Amino acid sequence: MTVGVLALQGAFAAHAECIQSLGVATVEVRTPEHLAAVDSLLMPGGESSTMSQLLLSSQLFAPIASRIAEGMPVFGTCAGMILLASEILDGRSDQVSFSAIDISVRRNAFGRQVDSFESSIHTPIGDFHGVFIRAPRIERIGNGVEVLGTLGDEPVLVRQGNVLAASFHPELTGDARLHEYFVQNMTQTRKV
Ligand code: GLN
Repeated sequence: MTVGVLALQGAFAAHAECIQSLGVATVEVRTPEHLAAVDSLLMPGGESSTMSQLLLSSQLFAPIASRIAEGMPVFGTCAGMILLASEILDGRSDQVSFSAIDISVRRNAFGRQVDSFESSIHTPIGDFHGVFIRAPRIERIGNGVEVLGTLGDEPVLVRQGNVLAASFHPELTGDARLHEYFVQNMTQTRKV
């Protein structure tokens, strides 16, 4: 089993370290050939509008969209969550998304004074220390979406089938439990 980490921009190295700490191999995904070699994909935090442009120029957008539609497990954090959302509010007009999870997210929605903060996240698999960096806010959740984690009463960790998305950065706290959840509960080895 190999977990891909989208490595066009942003905090991809920390995600790869979390996965490797579980004894699972990773591949940095920058081309369609890299994508073909992985069973699942992590989309890191960073800048979603830049990643959107790079996804198109690298020819990765269409093959990733097909793989997600075929059931490839994918986990997006922060900018990665924005890339997976069905609706982006306050996005750039040319910004694309995979529409893989039925949520509306507002970019940079936690306000200027609190662009970055840390807080406790409650989930069925335990409490997490959540690091929020210019984080998106989930403003709407579709019927098929399961809320797995909350900050107060706001959803910050959501899942719809093969798609997991967090508005915070689990990879920056040295806590690989969510990566473990992804690998154990969502990652399937492809049938050849
Ligand atoms: N604000 C960024 C965006 O819109 C996301 C920030 C992050 O990933 N830490 O893409």
